[in-house]
Amino acid sequence: MESADCVVVGAGVIGLAIARALARAGREVLVLERAHAIGTETSSRNSEVIHAGIYYPPHLAKARWCVAGRQMLYRFCAEYGVPHRRCGKLIVATDEAQLPQLERLRQQALANGVDDLRFLDRDRVRALEPEVRCVGALLSPSSGIIDSHAYMLALQGDAERHGATIAFGTTVVGGRAGGDGIELHTEGAQPFALRARTVVNSAGLGAQRLARSIEGVPAQTVPPLFLAKGNYFVLAGRSPFSRLVYPLPEPGGLGVHVTIDLAGQARFGPDVEWVESIDYAVDACRAERFYASVRRYWPALADGLLAPGYAGIRPKIEKPGGSNTDFLIMGPREHGVAGLINLFGIESPGLTASLAIAEYVAQIAAS
Ligand SMILES: Cc1cc2nc3c(=O)[nH]c(=O)nc-3n(C[C@H](O)[C@H](O)[C@H](O)COP(=O)(O)OP(=O)(O)OC[C@H]3O[C@@H](n4cnc5c(N)ncnc54)[C@H](O)[C@@H]3O)c2cc1C
Repeated sequence: MESADCVVVGAGVIGLAIARALARAGREVLVLERAHAIGTETSSRNSEVIHAGIYYPPHLAKARWCVAGRQMLYRFCAEYGVPHRRCGKLIVATDEAQLPQLERLRQQALANGVDDLRFLDRDRVRALEPEVRCVGALLSPSSGIIDSHAYMLALQGDAERHGATIAFGTTVVGGRAGGDGIELHTEGAQPFALRARTVVNSAGLGAQRLARSIEGVPAQTVPPLFLAKGNYFVLAGRSPFSRLVYPLPEPGGLGVHVTIDLAGQARFGPDVEWVESIDYAVDACRAERFYASVRRYWPALADGLLAPGYAGIRPKIEKPGGSNTDFLIMGPREHGVAGLINLFGIESPGLTASLAIAEYVAQIAAS
């Protein structure tokens, strides 16, 4: 049987960031990816927002890694020429009753180390974004947007420069832990088995299935998986906004917000639709709800301007109704299996936090 030092399963943004961190730490890294390209799942089905770190209670790893990861990400983008823009974001209160929530968010952000939020009254918001209707807003200057594909290509390039390789079209279907390392079995054009000293399970929506397929992993250490789909609608024509505009968060997500991409196209979403299976089709009937949500802060939105865009699926580890579940990263200390690191529930802000998560996983792998 072939042997390997480190195997990373999944070439989404998280697997690529981890592969890069491990390769830069001098480890020999093989990435196994079932698709034929990088980032074909959640990593290319998101808002491409660099989050400041406002929404998460300070005791969560999400808060720490979002703030640290955001700083690392801006530095990375500057160093590797990844297109991005620190465009800033408004979180808007659409009626007086929501104003205390803005203040609570500001306090929470402060506790997370995000100290640059500013409260703007209605007139100052109008001066910045004339189309937005609200009674007040928080301005987050350090929020931004990124070309997530260019970012993943840069991660891949740097990982490969440090010796990592990626095997595409290779699905890990099972394995066995114990003895000297972890054995993995793959399916694909050329199925093979190998034994690795370290295995990182960064398979996103496939992480639970993969963990369960490895003999020797205690079943009780694998959390359930719940799927919270987020649909997007795109706006015909150019964006009337130059910043991101968010309503206050809703259960399961951040509310139907406006994001703009680097080409100036605006999209609205994601909403929250709990589903039983993975299906990325966007149901045009949901448009009605989008018009209603968006008109709360953009009343001038005319009929017929929204078209179904794309969807992504949040890999939740908590039932509908729960809130603030943290990222769940489990190493040998948590599950007792030497050499295995499982990542579960890497939903938003995973893109922003990716470099911080990778640093943490590389530390576990080195210990
Ligand atoms: C709707 C939505 C909006 C979001 N918006 C933002 C945002 O604006 N900002 C932000 O910071 N974060 C955002 N996120 C979160 C971010 O997109 C994710 O945290 C991140 O993309 C997760 O990356 P990943 O590598 O873990 O997963 P994925 O990108 O899904 O990658 C997992 C990979 O594993 C592969 N795989 C699975 N099983 C196997 C197997 N058995 N063998 C081999 N390969 C396998 C898959 O093919 C896939 O390529 C959003 C998420 C969603 C759903």
